[in-house]
Amino acid sequence: MNKFRMHNYHHMSSRRKFLTKLTMAAAAAPLAAWHRSSQQAIPVPPVADGPTLRVALMGLGSYANRVAEAMQQCKRAKITGLISGTSSKLKEWGERYGVPEGSRYNYSNFDQVRNNPDIDAIYVITPNAQHKEQVVRIARAGKHAICEKPMAINAREGAEMVAACKQAGVQLLVGYRMHFEANTLEIIRMRNAGEFGKPLFFQGLSGFRIGNPSQWRLDPKLSGGGAMMDIGIYSVNGARYMVGEEPVWVTAQETKTDPVLFREGVDETIQFQLGFPSGAIASCLSTYRMNYLDRFFLDGENGFAELSPATGYGPIKARTHKGELNFQHITHQTTQMDEMAAILLDGKKPIVPLDGEEGLKDLKIIDAIYEAVRTGKKVSLKL
Ligand code: NDP
Repeated sequence: MNKFRMHNYHHMSSRRKFLTKLTMAAAAAPLAAWHRSSQQAIPVPPVADGPTLRVALMGLGSYANRVAEAMQQCKRAKITGLISGTSSKLKEWGERYGVPEGSRYNYSNFDQVRNNPDIDAIYVITPNAQHKEQVVRIARAGKHAICEKPMAINAREGAEMVAACKQAGVQLLVGYRMHFEANTLEIIRMRNAGEFGKPLFFQGLSGFRIGNPSQWRLDPKLSGGGAMMDIGIYSVNGARYMVGEEPVWVTAQETKTDPVLFREGVDETIQFQLGFPSGAIASCLSTYRMNYLDRFFLDGENGFAELSPATGYGPIKARTHKGELNFQHITHQTTQMDEMAAILLDGKKPIVPLDGEEGLKDLKIIDAIYEAVRTGKKVSLKL
């Protein structure tokens, strides 16, 4: 199989050598066990035993390929189904991952997963504008849904998905892999422990220079927007988990230098600002026009935290006013899928939630950012 194309912002070089050999257990462990000191090797508690999450992947493209490879190292999740519009991929991936023909579906017949006892959850990794309909169908088929970011292309759709899953009694999780990343979680722990003092300011820079003009990311019917939907969402979501509050207002400004590549409905560069109830503020950049933009910075009364890179595939590099953090890099998607197994099957509560309601909050913020761009006005938020 061809190597799938990757995006620039995911081309993060490994800058640090592996310090300690760690197993997945570190990532699955309770936070308390491994946040002690940034400079120390992390203790390796045994991975929580439990049932295996049997997952069908939907949309066998670039990111699904990455997820599938990462799942080969999972302790609690495995691929037991495939859904694709391309029959040759079904055959190829089916043979590669040992998925029998009876558990391979296309977009017309995947509702039949209802009758497949070997599938617990379906992971939607298709273009953004398809997520809503696919998740609603998954819910109606009685399976849990894992949905890639952005969960949908606006809050109205997101709310429909949340309602459909609730009605069907299934769970909905969003593929926010950073919610399980050790450096990120350590900064959140430090913030909660008051180590930075009161958070005052967050800066989020999320961008890369987009290539191929014919890709779905530049087609508003499939993407539902531009850089904001694809990469700016990391700063939207990150502002919330770094500051630790929900924003109450947003202002935003758009710059478009190339109206041919970035047609109507596809944002190229948006700067946005968020205000939080405590008085903390955030200033963020979302762009498809510039490379080397993957940085979070939290400034508090008594200290600071920086993640740079903050959201790439890793290793994530972090430092605070106390020094560098040295948590071991573990493939994000491996950790994510093991943790999702524990959430869906054991009822584990993640430290940074990533259910449908959380995905919906980000969509409400993005809707408000687009409204602020359109009107030039400050938009109030109630999340
Ligand atoms: P790709 O274009 O590489 O793959 C998308 C796949 O969706 C295709 O291969 C195809 O699979 C299926 N598809 C169905 N209809 C269409 C269509 N009309 N046009 C194109 N593809 C179609 O995209 P990515 O894998 O990069 O992105 C998929 C989703 O994953 C997006 O929502 C994106 O935001 C998210 N993503 C998340 C990342 C993360 O780090 N969390 C990183 C990258 C992407 P098939 O032939 O099997 O039907």
